Amino acid sequence: MRSVTILGATGSVGSSTLDLIEREPDRYRVRALTANCDVDRLAAAARRTEAELAVVADERCLPALRAALAGTGTRTAGGAAAVIEAGASGADWTMAAIVGCAGLAPTMAAIARGGTVALANKEALVSAGDVVMDAVAAHGARLLPVDSEHNAIFQCFDFARPGLVRRIILTASGGPFRDATAERMASVTAAEAVRHPNWSMGAKISVDSATMMNKGLELIEAARLFPVHPDQIEIVVHRQSVIHSLVDYVDGSMLAQLGPSDMRVPIAHALAWPERMATPMAPLDLVALGRLDFEAPDPGRFHALTLARAAVNAGGAAPAILNAANEVAVAAFLAGRIGFLEIAAIVDDILQRYDPPSPETLDAVLAVDARARELAAERVEDCVC
Ligand code: NAD
Ligand code: MG
Repeated sequence: MRSVTILGATGSVGSSTLDLIEREPDRYRVRALTANCDVDRLAAAARRTEAELAVVADERCLPALRAALAGTGTRTAGGAAAVIEAGASGADWTMAAIVGCAGLAPTMAAIARGGTVALANKEALVSAGDVVMDAVAAHGARLLPVDSEHNAIFQCFDFARPGLVRRIILTASGGPFRDATAERMASVTAAEAVRHPNWSMGAKISVDSATMMNKGLELIEAARLFPVHPDQIEIVVHRQSVIHSLVDYVDGSMLAQLGPSDMRVPIAHALAWPERMATPMAPLDLVALGRLDFEAPDPGRFHALTLARAAVNAGGAAPAILNAANEVAVAAFLAGRIGFLEIAAIVDDILQRYDPPSPETLDAVLAVDARARELAAERVEDCVC
């Protein structure tokens, strides 16, 4: 029996994780499940898995959660501190699947308990790369990448001989606007942006895929997770999303991981690691696929790629600022307050205007994050779009 905690249990990644663990109830015991305020889904999952603890981040949702779980053995709690406590529940395996920098402190709490942390929450690593990686080393935790590209690289990377790696190649679907003109992109709606051609995901990451900021965040994520220089990380558009990423070795060999476009594959890898477990998806049918296409990304239409590359090269506070401004801008776009192209424009603007010292602690990262959010929110207010 392994104890499992899922931070962000009601989201896309959280639900896929629950799907896998619920197929093997004899192997996993659920310690804690968290959500922002999605009481119905959270309570249903807690009942099905007989979770020990269910937590809502938004305290206003706690009475409804209490009512929904009355008469069960599941304890309930609410508020940001309670989510951090859920992270620190001491589970053998924790899925970090809260969206955004809101997941940073609970993920750090899980890392501090020294267990295995399956990391989907890329924003945590982008904002606080050194702080997270130092904590992983200090507490003897094991960080397993769940983002499909990083999970692919993890499976192909020879960690004993990093010097033999020439390049990491991150594949990108290109998102729903990969073939759109710049004029068309100026007027796309939130509904169009969240309609991803290959993957079914939460709203925020779907917009990030549409701007390609997702690939920018993943570039920074890869630079944190793998012992390579950012210049060794390339991005290639691969519209079928079958090859999830590649590692290129000095001898000319390239190792790739292929699989269906279903997050249950990388989640299962992280859940069973270093073993493997069966998943319900049909195996890839290469003949039916027929072809795999590759093309260079277009930084002219996807300014976010250039911003992320500059932020990882600048280091210091830049990645945290990039991420925070992007979170605010994406939320404003989803709310219909700014246009699609304003997302990258706002991130660019905040990166230029805000240049604090490099944050060396979790609190310092959170302070940079908070200030960058304020500046981005002001910029959204000023936007005449
Ligand atoms: P989602 O929006 O579907 O789910 C997010 C989860 O976080 C929900 O359970 C929600 O209740 C919770 N949450 C939201 N705001 C919160 C807050 N302020 N405090 C506490 N909890 C909060 O998102 P998702 O698509 O599952 O993505 C989750 C993370 O995984 C993101 O960082 C994303 O980039 C990453 N990721 C997702 C996918 C995917 O296929 N969905 C793939 C790779 C990486
Ligand atoms: Mg990804």
